[in-house]
Amino acid sequence: MCSLKKEDHSRWFNHIYNNAHIGIFVVNKERIIIDVNPHFCKLFGYTQEEVLQQSEKMLHTSAQSYHEFFDVAFNLAIHGIPTKIDYQFKHKNGNLFWCQIAGNLVENEVLWGISDITQRITLEQQLQAKSQLLVATQTLLHVGTWELDLDTKMIRASDEFYNIMGLPVANEISLETYLKSLHPDDQHIIFESIAYLPKGVKTKGIHLRALIHRANYCEMRYIFQKGETIYDEYGKAIKLTGATIDVTDQKETEILLKSQKKRLEHQAFHDHLTGLPNRFLLLDRLNKMIEVAERKKHKIAILFIDLDDFKFINDSLGHHIGDKYLIEIANKIKQKLRSSDTIARLGGDEFVILLDDIHNENDIIKVIHENIAMENETLLVANEQIVPQMSIGISLFPFDGKEAHTLLKNADAAMYKAKRDQKHSYSFYDSSLTQLAYERMNFVKELRDAIEQDEFLLNYQPQINAKTETLIGLEALIRWQHPTKGFLAPAQFLPMVEELGLIIELNEWVIKNTFKQSAQWHHSGKHYGQLSINMSIKHLESPHCYDFIKNCLSQTGCPVKSIVFEITEGHFMQKPQEVIDKLNQLCKLGFTIVVDDFGTGYSSLSYLSKLPISGLKIDKSFIDNIPHINDDVAIAKTIIELAKNLKLEVIAEGVEHEEQKDFLLYHGCNNIQGYLYSKPLSVHDIETFIDNY
Ligand code: C2E
Ligand code: MG
Ligand code: MG
Repeated sequence: MCSLKKEDHSRWFNHIYNNAHIGIFVVNKERIIIDVNPHFCKLFGYTQEEVLQQSEKMLHTSAQSYHEFFDVAFNLAIHGIPTKIDYQFKHKNGNLFWCQIAGNLVENEVLWGISDITQRITLEQQLQAKSQLLVATQTLLHVGTWELDLDTKMIRASDEFYNIMGLPVANEISLETYLKSLHPDDQHIIFESIAYLPKGVKTKGIHLRALIHRANYCEMRYIFQKGETIYDEYGKAIKLTGATIDVTDQKETEILLKSQKKRLEHQAFHDHLTGLPNRFLLLDRLNKMIEVAERKKHKIAILFIDLDDFKFINDSLGHHIGDKYLIEIANKIKQKLRSSDTIARLGGDEFVILLDDIHNENDIIKVIHENIAMENETLLVANEQIVPQMSIGISLFPFDGKEAHTLLKNADAAMYKAKRDQKHSYSFYDSSLTQLAYERMNFVKELRDAIEQDEFLLNYQPQINAKTETLIGLEALIRWQHPTKGFLAPAQFLPMVEELGLIIELNEWVIKNTFKQSAQWHHSGKHYGQLSINMSIKHLESPHCYDFIKNCLSQTGCPVKSIVFEITEGHFMQKPQEVIDKLNQLCKLGFTIVVDDFGTGYSSLSYLSKLPISGLKIDKSFIDNIPHINDDVAIAKTIIELAKNLKLEVIAEGVEHEEQKDFLLYHGCNNIQGYLYSKPLSVHDIETFIDNY
């Protein structure tokens, strides 16, 4: 083993001392500098002569730091505690510089080694400044950055991220906490991102909503988030990192702009006064309706309306009343139309209505009278009572035009015709339809007047047991004593009554009057058997029918057992169960039910057995040809047999000749109604008939 000699030691030490890149200075207990090396001189700019035997004070930035240095470094070092601190000294030229200083006690003196760390400190300061700038930028731009550890599912993020998400600033948070701060509907987006980002899928970023729970409300923020995956050296995805931007302001501006756009669009397509669609929107809708109607083979009605009295109202009551009147009319009509129909204002006092899926002109006339014309209505406009008056022109797609413009033009022309005519408030472009519609509408009015003015009356036709020659009943048959057309049979008005939906009104009249008649005969001791009423199935199906009949019964005092309801076979086949239920209700009250015109419909036998009926009436058409036409003979015989088997009564109607009666009697049908015995008679005549029989 070889060791250095003492003089070699000192030689080596001197070499290191003089060539070291560390400044070295030695101070005594009084902090007087007693030695420095060349690098010290280089660091401080002093020569050896200038510093030796001088107080160390000259190296410090101030007297105060000279004293502080005692506490933090010198006092420790002089007591043998090795010391190392970052400290700022002063160069001879007055510049301050940072160094790291380490002190050791060597015998009674302290040897200080100094290395310049100005560069490191500067870098640190720059770094700090940059990070402050980053924080400031993030705050200013509402951008937060984050990093998600895919293993631990923990997130580390910048302060601004927490601010954006409305979370308290923390060192890290769990993925779960982050998810809870999102709108529940958006949470799945994060799960999807975590699933697809590590697979290298590139995205344009995602839009999310953050919910921030304040003291008494919940604030919603719109955020945009973009991230990418960090992989380890083996290619395993370990982290997702990215930025979150608060885009609430942009989003709100976007929403505002959208609503402004919507408002502008609304203004462009609607009438400013009434808020109804204007001509542009009307044409657009009509074009679309035509497209659909062409495909579905629908009809569309275009109603052009012009208010007859608008100019007068404007001139006499003022424009502001005129405006209110238009608004009122628009609202009233709009309320009464179906949502699929359109009402538009073309300007002035002109409105157009589009009615979709129209079946016939009656539908249109019904809508005009019930929902548009306001015939018996008075509008109260700013304390003024106004009775609206309008002229309506109607064109029909596809008959009066295939294009929107043509249809509108033709409806307009029809409107002028209606105005000129003044006879009725509406006119079809095809004038024959106007006449037809007018007649129908007139008929409705006539019929209602007829009920009110007692123009209807009942005739009664006897029903006879031909075997015993006794009167078993009467059938009530309606007649109309028309003021101009004379005496009308049911065939002349019933089809129209049915078509226009007025049969319920008429049937109610018949029931009430038959019940009254029955009660009256009952009280005066007339024996006529049972009284048959022809019951309309439509009336039977109506919701108030049962209550109406029950009330009539108690109001008139009619004996329930005296009444037979005839229902026509065929009609009740449409809603069988409903009819069965209603008939059962009537049966429970004590009425008798029979099937009229039997053989003309298509009742199945199983169905027949479910009906609460007590009899069948063989239709006149089979009776007409017995006993000469074999088919009819066979049918009549079969019906009689069927009734017998089902334990039902059977009666034949329309019997005019003796040979028909003989045939029926021979085959077991004793009950007969027909001209052979009597035509339907007036009340007076039937009373005589009853008395004589
Ligand atoms: P319906 O119920 O089958 O009535 C029998 C019809 O045959 C009556 O015609 C009657 O006058 C006629 N008739 C009876 N015997 C003979 C005959 O021997 N020869 C000929 N040629 N005809 C005879 P009407 O009164 O014209 O009634 C026709 C139909 O109108 C009735 O057929 C019934 O379905 C309906 N109807 C009549 N009155 C009412 C009513 O008050 N309400 C309802 N809903 N319908 C009624
Ligand atoms: Mg009948
Ligand atoms: Mg009949």
